[in-house]
Amino acid sequence: MAQHIAIVGMGPTGIYTLQRLIEHPDPLSISVFETGAQAGIGMPYSADTCRKSMLANIASIEIPPLPQSYLGWMRGLPKAILRGFGVDPDTLDDREFTPRLLLGQYFRSQFIELLHRAEARGHVIHIHEETTITDVIPGEEGVRLADAVALREERFDRVILSTGHVWPGDEDATDTYYPSPWTGLFDAEIAAARIGIMGTSLSSIDAAMAVAGQHGVFTRGPDRSLSFDLAEGSEALTIAMMSRSGILPEADFFCPIPYEPLSVMTDEALNALRAKGKRGLLDAVFALFQAEIAADDPDWAREVGLQSATADDIAELYFADRLRRDPFRWAACNLAEVEQNKAQQRTVGWRYAILRMHEKIEAMLPDFSDEDRARFDAGLKRVFVDNYAAIPSETIRRLLALRDAGILQVLRLGSDYESETGNDGTTIIAEGYAHRFDLFIDARGQRAMTSADLPFPTLKGLLLDAGCDVPRVADDYSLLLPDLAPGQVAMGAIPYLMHDRPFVQGITAAAEIGRAIGQLGGATNHRHRANYWLAA
Ligand SMILES: Cc1cc2nc3c(=O)[nH]c(=O)nc-3n(C[C@H](O)[C@H](O)[C@H](O)COP(=O)(O)OP(=O)(O)OC[C@H]3O[C@@H](n4cnc5c(N)ncnc54)[C@H](O)[C@@H]3O)c2cc1C
Repeated sequence: MAQHIAIVGMGPTGIYTLQRLIEHPDPLSISVFETGAQAGIGMPYSADTCRKSMLANIASIEIPPLPQSYLGWMRGLPKAILRGFGVDPDTLDDREFTPRLLLGQYFRSQFIELLHRAEARGHVIHIHEETTITDVIPGEEGVRLADAVALREERFDRVILSTGHVWPGDEDATDTYYPSPWTGLFDAEIAAARIGIMGTSLSSIDAAMAVAGQHGVFTRGPDRSLSFDLAEGSEALTIAMMSRSGILPEADFFCPIPYEPLSVMTDEALNALRAKGKRGLLDAVFALFQAEIAADDPDWAREVGLQSATADDIAELYFADRLRRDPFRWAACNLAEVEQNKAQQRTVGWRYAILRMHEKIEAMLPDFSDEDRARFDAGLKRVFVDNYAAIPSETIRRLLALRDAGILQVLRLGSDYESETGNDGTTIIAEGYAHRFDLFIDARGQRAMTSADLPFPTLKGLLLDAGCDVPRVADDYSLLLPDLAPGQVAMGAIPYLMHDRPFVQGITAAAEIGRAIGQLGGATNHRHRANYWLAA
C-alpha cells in the first residue's frame, strides 16, 4: 500500500520537501494542509503579510533549484506584470532583488509544476487549503491530525511539520500596540502620529514601510536616488526605529556564488577540533575565524586589529566603526561602497569570509559547552547575523529617503532601558530621555521556540513528558522521542529548530531542511527506534 504522508504548512520548506518526496519511485499518497487560501507561497511572500514595496533579500542566483529558476520564470512573464511590481523587464538579471510578493507568485507556480510532475509519476496529492492543523496525535496505527473542525479520519505513516514562522495572535494587538508587524498591522489604518518600532532590521523596516506607505510615496530621481513625498494631512507622522545598539543593517554585498571554498576553516580543520572535545572549543574555532580572515583580507585584519581580538570582544570590534557614526550617514557610505563594488564585481574579502563561515560554525554549536555557547551568543553570533542579514540597496535608499523627509529616526537605547505600554501609547525611557509613542510595534523578528510553544497539544505533551524542552531531531529531521516510531513526525518548522541552529532562516535553509525530510527510505525507514533515541 502507498505510504501516506502529510505535509502541514506549504511554504518554501514544504515545497522543497514535496520536490524531494515525489522523486520517490513508489507511488505515494501525500496530503497537504495549509492555513492560507493558496498553498505554496509561504508567510513572508503572501499578500496577507507583505506589500509590493517589500523586497526579498534573496536573488535568483541564490534560490536553490526548483523546476524553473526564478529568473527564467520572470523572463516568461509579460513585461507588464513585471513593471507592475516595479521590476524593469529589460534589465533583469539573476542578482536582482524583487518584491517578496512576486517571489511568492514564483513559489506558487513552482508548487503547481511539482504537482504536475507528481501526478505524472503516479503519486496522489490531496490539497487542503484554508485548513489549520490544531493537533498531531501519534499512535501505533499511524499519526492522526485534528483541524479546527474535527479530528480527521486519515492515519499517516509520516507527518511533516513545515509550519514556518510563529507570531503572536491578533488578539494580542490593540489600537496602540502591535506585538509584531504580522499581527494585524498591515490591514489597519495607521494615523499620522508618533510611531515607535522596536528593532532596526528586516522586520522593523517592513513595519516602517507599511506605515510610511499609508502616508506618502517614494519617487525616483534621475540619479537613482529616492525621495519620499508625504501626503497632505500626514505632516504629523514620525517613525522611530530603535534597538540597544541603534545601528542599521548593511547593504547586501557582491560576492561569488556558489561560494568558493574556505582556505583555513575547512571541514577537516573543524573536525580535528571537534575530535579534541569540548574544552576550549570556542577559542580554537575563533582562532580559525581569525586566520581565515587574515588569509582572505590581511589589510582589513590588520586595520581593525583582528589578531588581538577574542571570541568575547569580537562584536565590539566589528561594530565599533558603525557605533561611532550617525546610522544614516554610515548607511549612505556603506551603500555607495557596495554599489561601487557591485559595478566592479569586487568582493570584500572579510565580508565574504564571514558569510561563508557562519554555517560551518553553526554546525559546531552542538559540540560547544554551555559556557561556550553563551559566549558565542553574546559575541560571534551577532557578527554573523549582521553579515548575513544584509538588506537590498534599494531598502537602504528608502530608509535614507524617509530620513531626508524628516520622518524617520533611529534611536540607540543602550543596554538598560525601560518600556511602559498603556492604553494611550508607549513610553521608552533610555539614557535619561523619555520617548513617547502613540503607536508602538514590536518588530524584533523570529525568536527560537520551545516544545511548550507548540500549537499541537498531544505532541507537545509527549515532548514535555519526555523532558524534551526543545524538540530534537535526527539527520532527516525526524523528531527524537521515545514514544514515537522512527520517522513518524518530522520537525521542519524553523522556529523550533533555532535553539540548536540559530542561523536556520531563509530560503536556502528551507531547501536544505525540505530535501533532508523528503529523502524517504534512508535513515527514517531503517533505523531502529532505540538508535533514534540514543542519537539524542
Ligand atoms: C518578514 C520576513 C521576510 C523574509 N524574507 C526573506 C527573504 O527575502 N529571503 C530569504 O531567504 N528568507 C527570508 N525570510 C526567512 C523565511 O524564514 C524563509 O524565507 C521562509 O519563509 C521559510 O519557509 P517556511 O516554509 O519554513 O515557513 P513559512 O514561509 O512561514 O511557511 C509556513 C507555512 O505553513 C502554514 N502553516 C503554519 N501553521 C500551520 C498549521 N497549523 N496548519 C496548516 N498550515 C500552517 C503557513 O500558513 C505558511 O504558509 C523572511 C522571513 C520573514 C519573517
